[in-house]
Amino acid sequence: MAGASFILAINLFIAALFALAFFLVGVSNRADKVAPFFSLAYVFGIFYIASEFILPLQDHPQLAYTAGFAFFHGAVTAVTLGVARRYRPKLPWTGILAIAAISIAANWFGYTLPHDTVERNLIYQAPYATLQAAAAWIIFASRRRQPIDIGLLALFALSALQFLSKPLAALVLGGSGDSTATYLATTYALYSQSLGAILQVATGLLMLMLLVRDMLVEITARSETDPLSSVYNRRGFEERTAPSLQHPATPTALVLADLDAFKSINDNYGHEIGDQVIIAFAALLRDSAPPKAIVGRMGGEEFAVFLPGANLTVARLLAETLRASFATLSVPGLPPLVRCTASFGVAERLDGESLSGLRRRADAALYTAKRDGRDRVVCASDPLADAMPAHPVAGTSLARSA
Ligand code: GH3
Ligand code: MG
Ligand code: MG
Repeated sequence: MAGASFILAINLFIAALFALAFFLVGVSNRADKVAPFFSLAYVFGIFYIASEFILPLQDHPQLAYTAGFAFFHGAVTAVTLGVARRYRPKLPWTGILAIAAISIAANWFGYTLPHDTVERNLIYQAPYATLQAAAAWIIFASRRRQPIDIGLLALFALSALQFLSKPLAALVLGGSGDSTATYLATTYALYSQSLGAILQVATGLLMLMLLVRDMLVEITARSETDPLSSVYNRRGFEERTAPSLQHPATPTALVLADLDAFKSINDNYGHEIGDQVIIAFAALLRDSAPPKAIVGRMGGEEFAVFLPGANLTVARLLAETLRASFATLSVPGLPPLVRCTASFGVAERLDGESLSGLRRRADAALYTAKRDGRDRVVCASDPLADAMPAHPVAGTSLARSA
């Protein structure tokens, strides 16, 4: 077996391994829309390599030559589409199909050009270079700059240059064979297929790492998010607030909220309507809190809003706004005039205070708010813990009627 044929056989093996790996990633994570493109790319790669083996056996190789080109073109296209799926909101179908149609037609005619000319080799390699450059551009334009993104960008750029340099390499290395049958015996084929193997492994590994990283990010986000209310759960809340607690100098405040007489909502209207109330309250917190705020569902019907940069006055104002908005909010599923209320405990962080210390004080204030009649805001730092007066609200308050 000639050297290039041997490398080609290894390439076949590598392509099959990656096709299987990406297939398994796609099957094990149905939400992943990228892995199928990469798996398809390597399946095209297998067909391309098979065509390289078949090509020397053909009496009229124009069809096999063009088919081989089209298979490899399919592989590179699928990679670019996978990259686009991962980094862009829309797939660039028009551009991709135009490149495919033009380059496959060009290579059908390119076959009739004299063998081993720079023009013929360029017609063969330029579409690959274009697609790889497009993949690099898509990553660049996405502005994602984590190490894997930069690595993939660099690899695609390098790969584009490598395809463009091939016609030149063919010149330097003594040609790509005077017929399709002799290509595999040339030094150029050995060079081309070896470089192909290295790039194939490097790209495949980086693309796998990219998908694994995406999966990890998704799993972490899921484990830190409350599925009902879509705000952070207690774990996510504690994870996100930790970095802010490293800055002792800036003011920080915490608002704790607990729905009033929520048990009676469940009892009177059913658990599903109770869920709607939780969803509506969480949405109100999310929409009303400033962008830097961290909103979490700490359990059952208890929520927390962590406010970096806010002092007690600001936090109390927010809590009072939330209280008033919720008391007038109509929740889908509840009878038209029925309104729910919530009680709030607010605390500003003392120097060096931990989250649990801050929370204990806000909790004590919340307890006072409950004890004093609910539907009110109480601040922890006030030594007398005097409640802000509760405002009368339109409609029926379940908290009051309960
Ligand atoms: P208070 O005004 O003193 O806070 O009274 P409360 O009824 O709100 O408080 P209590 O702790 O007695 O009841 C809380 C209820 O919240 C009991 C529990 O069944 C309900 N609950 C907890 N999690 C959920 C949930 O995810 N969905 C629904 N629908 N109810 C929940
Ligand atoms: Mg409650
Ligand atoms: Mg509670």
